Amino acid sequence: MIKSLSKAFARWFAAHVELHPSQSCPECGSQLAREMDDASGAWRCLNPDCPPEVLRRVTLWVSPEAMDIQGCDAALVKQLVERGLVRNAADFYQLSAAELAALDGMNQARAQELLAAIEDSKQREAWRVLYGLGIRKVGIAEAQELCGQFTSLQELFAAARNPMPAITGVSEATVQQLKRWLSDPINRKVVRRLKKAGLNFTIL
Ligand SMILES: [Zn+2]
Repeated sequence: MIKSLSKAFARWFAAHVELHPSQSCPECGSQLAREMDDASGAWRCLNPDCPPEVLRRVTLWVSPEAMDIQGCDAALVKQLVERGLVRNAADFYQLSAAELAALDGMNQARAQELLAAIEDSKQREAWRVLYGLGIRKVGIAEAQELCGQFTSLQELFAAARNPMPAITGVSEATVQQLKRWLSDPINRKVVRRLKKAGLNFTIL
């Protein structure tokens, strides 16, 4: 089975996912699976806590198209994840200068620069926040289209928890992934923490 599932994820999982009869993920040992409505039919590890998945999520958040956190390169991301300092987007906004300065290749000056870059990321457009969350099937184009219909991310997220009107350029599969993502209290907590940290949720 898949390890460390939240209850909401487990419910979704039971209804929408087929498990591979024998193969498991070499990274976390979870049984490989595929979503029943996934046209590609590919077997994948669907564990949100699988180490490569956590690394992918954190790497996406700092990337130029998302939060564009200057100086946060692949080696630094890897250290932050491996040391358990960052597991999701919201963790970046609770890092201290002392924690950063203690990392390999860092010092006080570089730690301060990185904190300034993290602070800068609070100014990014709301669609980049949405894209950076790494929700499946929500690429740059989808994030922009979704944001185009609402005045804030809170409004979008509230709408997505109800039957949502069709949005041009956004497939039903994307909407379903957004709904699924929001149905998980772990993800909703990340959203609340990002809002509290001062990320830009306002859509202009
Ligand atoms: Zn895995």
